[in-house]
Parts: sequence; C-alpha cells; structure tokens
Amino acid sequence: MSKPDYDAVVVGSGPNGLAAAIVLQQAGLSVLLLEGKDQIGGGLRTAELTLPGFRHDVCSAIHPLAVASPFFQTLPLAQYGLEYITPPVAAAHPFDNGTAAAVVNSLADTARGLGADARAYRQLLEPLVATWPGLANDVLAPLHIPRHPLDMARFGLSALLPATVLASRFQTPEARGLLAGMAAHAIQPLSNPTTSAIGLVLLTAAHRKGWPLPRGGSQGIADALAAHFVALGGQIETGTYVRSLTQLPSAKAVLFDVTPAQLLQIAGHSLSAVYQWQLRRYRYGMGVFKVDWALDGPIPFTAAECRQAGTVHLGNTLEEIADSEKATARGAHPDKPFVLLAQQSLFDDSRAPAGKHTAWAYCHVPNGSAVDMTAAIEQQVERFAPGFRERIIGRHTFTTAQLEAYNPNYVGGDINGGLLDITQLFTRPALRASPYRTSRAGLYLCSSATPPGGGVHGMCGYHAASRALRDVFKLQPAPLYHEADSALSAVKSLVS
Ligand SMILES: Cc1cc2nc3c(=O)[nH]c(=O)nc-3n(C[C@H](O)[C@H](O)[C@H](O)COP(=O)(O)OP(=O)(O)OC[C@H]3O[C@@H](n4cnc5c(N)ncnc54)[C@H](O)[C@@H]3O)c2cc1C
Repeated sequence: MSKPDYDAVVVGSGPNGLAAAIVLQQAGLSVLLLEGKDQIGGGLRTAELTLPGFRHDVCSAIHPLAVASPFFQTLPLAQYGLEYITPPVAAAHPFDNGTAAAVVNSLADTARGLGADARAYRQLLEPLVATWPGLANDVLAPLHIPRHPLDMARFGLSALLPATVLASRFQTPEARGLLAGMAAHAIQPLSNPTTSAIGLVLLTAAHRKGWPLPRGGSQGIADALAAHFVALGGQIETGTYVRSLTQLPSAKAVLFDVTPAQLLQIAGHSLSAVYQWQLRRYRYGMGVFKVDWALDGPIPFTAAECRQAGTVHLGNTLEEIADSEKATARGAHPDKPFVLLAQQSLFDDSRAPAGKHTAWAYCHVPNGSAVDMTAAIEQQVERFAPGFRERIIGRHTFTTAQLEAYNPNYVGGDINGGLLDITQLFTRPALRASPYRTSRAGLYLCSSATPPGGGVHGMCGYHAASRALRDVFKLQPAPLYHEADSALSAVKSLVS
C-alpha cells in the first residue's frame, strides 16, 4: 500500500478542530488542518463589523470555559500573544428596581451581595469551587467512570435538576434571577432537567478564574492555538470547503469539526444505515439573534455593578426569564427576551477608538427564525440603561440564517452544535461506545456536537483526537492539566 499523504486530516478550525489538530500533532503525527473560510477560528473570530476601528467578536466573546479547560491549560498560549483580561465583575444581573446582583471572583463577596441568600449561595457553590480542579476533568468529558466519584455525585445532585427547582433553595428575587440567567446559557426551558449544570459550571468558573476576554478579541485564542499547532509542525490550509470525502488527501484518520447534518452531506454514503439513522434523529436547539453595536460612550446602566461587568444578563426575575425561554422553545418571539450582553471595550481599549465603545448581545429565538429581534433586544438594554439608544452610532445584526451562512455548524442558528438536553448531553450525537467514532473506521466527529458540547474549551476536540490516537495509531494523548496534580508536583519539586 502506498503511504498516505498525511497521518491525519482535521476538517474545520474552530476551537475543537484546533484542539484536535494539536493533540494529534503533539503525538508526532503529520497533520493537515483544513478550513472552509479564508480565516481560521470558527466561533473565535474578531472583525470590524460596524465601523472602522471598532473590533467586534463575531461569535464567542467571554471565556470562562477556555481558561478552565483542562486541555488549553496545558498549552503555552501566552507565548503566542494570548492575553486574557478579567473584568472586576464577571457577570451582573440588573432588576427593574435599579439594583443588580453581581458575581465577582470572591465567592464570599458575591454571597454577601445576595443578602438573605448568602448562606444558601455559599452552601451550594463552596464545595464545587473547592473541588473544581478535579471535577473539571470529569465534567468536561464524555460519560465515563469519574476519577472523583464523590465530588461528581455531589455536583450531579444539583446539576441534574431543572434550574427552576434548584432555584427553590433561594428566597430572594436577586439570587433566583441570578441563577436563572446563568442556567439560561443552556438555551432551553429552565424547567428541563440538567439546566442547572451549565449555571453551576459558569458560577464555579467565575469564582476560580473569573470570566475573561482576550485582549484584541476572541480571534486571539484561535491565532495562538494555530501558531502553536504550526510550531509543532502542523499544516493549515484555509479556503477549502469540504463537500465530499473525495476532496480530502489520503490519511489514516479524518476528524470533522462539523455537526451531524453536515457529516451526512459529506460522508453519508460511506456510513452505516444505522448510524445515518441515528444522525438524522439528532436534534438542534433554539437559535440566536445577535447584535453588535458601535457606541459613542459606555452603556449607561443604572446599576453600578453593570458598569463594571464584562457580561450582563438582562431578564429581570427568574419567572420572566423562565417564561421567555419556554415561549421561545415553543416557537414564539417574546417582547422581553432574555438578553446576554458583553461590553468588551470597557476593559480592552484595542476594541474601539478612544472614548468610543463596542457592545455585543444576543437573545434566543426559535430554530431557523427569520424575525429581526433588534428592537426587542435594544428595548431590554434601554430598560436597565436609559439613554442607551442615543449612544448607538453603528449596528450589525445576524439572523439565524445569516449565522448559519457564516458558519454551517450553526444549524438554524443553534450555537451549541445541537440541543444540550438530558437526552443529548452525554450521548451526542448518538448512543455509541465512543461518541467521537463514526460507523466508518478512521472517521471521527470532534465538534461541539460531541461531549461535552458547546462553548470554547476545546475538550470535544481533545477527547475525539485522543480516541483516534488510541484506535488508529495505538498512541496515548498528552495528559490533561489537573490543578491538584500540578500543585502536588510543585510541592515535590520544592522538597526534592
Ligand atoms: C453568537 C455566538 C456567541 C457565542 N458566545 C460564546 C461565548 O461567549 N463563550 C463561549 O465559550 N462560547 C460561545 N459561543 C459558542 C462557541 O463559539 C462554540 O461552541 C464553539 O465555537 C464551537 O467550536 P467548534 O470547534 O465545535 O465549532 P466552530 O467554532 O463552529 O468551528 C467550525 C469550523 O469548521 C468550519 N467548517 C464547517 N464545515 C466545514 C467544511 N465542510 N469544510 C471546511 N470547513 C468547515 C467552519 O468554517 C468553522 O471555522 C458563541 C457562539 C455564537 C455563534
């Protein structure tokens, strides 16, 4: 047999494609990374979407999961220019009475701000924050026998609950609203099981390393990952959109940073009938409608906490957020949608000309929605920041169709690579011994349509590439970062 062109080819250069390519390259293989667009990065791109000099994060903006990632933490990304900025308030949650709940790095200070719920907040979060270094490897992974079973069991007891149930631990509207805003990152009705999981992970991450943003924009994460991959000997080719397996150079393993709908188009004929059936049954979740603004001043939030926050959750009470998410899941477009807003330029002066600002926001909409939610989103900002509209000097919007045209992984505007409900949380995209293997030997999925799902953490890519290394090349991946181990080895090296 003739030698293949490469040991491995990775299709798609989002954070998971980049992570997979690095894992394979670290093992000494020859790896080609193909990207359909002219620029690498997937959900990690930054561009002047509105006016010259205003740099907007096209997709992801805030990166608690990137700094918590057990894989990214093993990589020397700072050497390639990646610098994180951590806003003093990770997330603020304003209410109609002009006050706001605020999540800061200190768990004690955050709890104190929740008044009568301070104790309940500490009881819920303290054990998770204390055990997170071990938990991270178990949570950000496919289903497996946990390395820390007791910690995982404690996490699971709360994480498996619907957020509306977990919220009954709190009595104040502030703590209940705060939890609802965190859980709404699950992009599904808050009465669904497991909606507490993402909320707890995000709160825990805030109390460990904050919710940072990269200086210069999210593109900085992709650029640093790509520079590291190339320094290890990897090759990148952009502008190659893969429509068929026949386009690919020969390789022993091919990993796809795409979702099931695209895999079916590219490789469907070569997959087993059962696996094709499983992929066709895969469900996508709600979409998003996104707005970026160029502003001639900071957003004039009434509550001071919001003016110091990297992220602001606009949705008022738990009841209002739960209603809005439920209505959206049923196909409606609420007048008062839950809005996630980031204000990067408050902390990073490279994002806008002097004295000017950028802001980024989105709300959830039904999958495939064609409705323009600009007015509803701006009304929500205005509600908590009177005078906001007068500061707008430029605007760019994305409907669900425009998002999908920009990146085919956002099917119907779903930014999580598929619904993250209890039926698809661990078994995405299909119930199999390994969710990363397809039915065809040597072909793998490595996108957020595999566990642990959406977000910029690279862990889907890490686990998929580890699977391919073991299956095809009989090699082991480099170990993941484990803070407890690294603290232990630091102590050992001091002692020796
Ligand atoms: C508006 C928005 C806001 C978000 N905010 C955040 C946030 O603040 N924090 C966070 O952690 N996450 C956020 N996310 C989610 C995050 O961006 C994604 O979960 C993440 O990027 C998924 O990574 P991935 O590698 O699986 O896929 P992607 O990042 O989608 O990358 C896939 C890549 O593959 C390429 N590709 C696809 N098909 C082909 C093909 N056939 N041939 C060649 N190339 C192909 C695409 O062009 C793309 O570059 C956000 C997403 C969006 C859209």
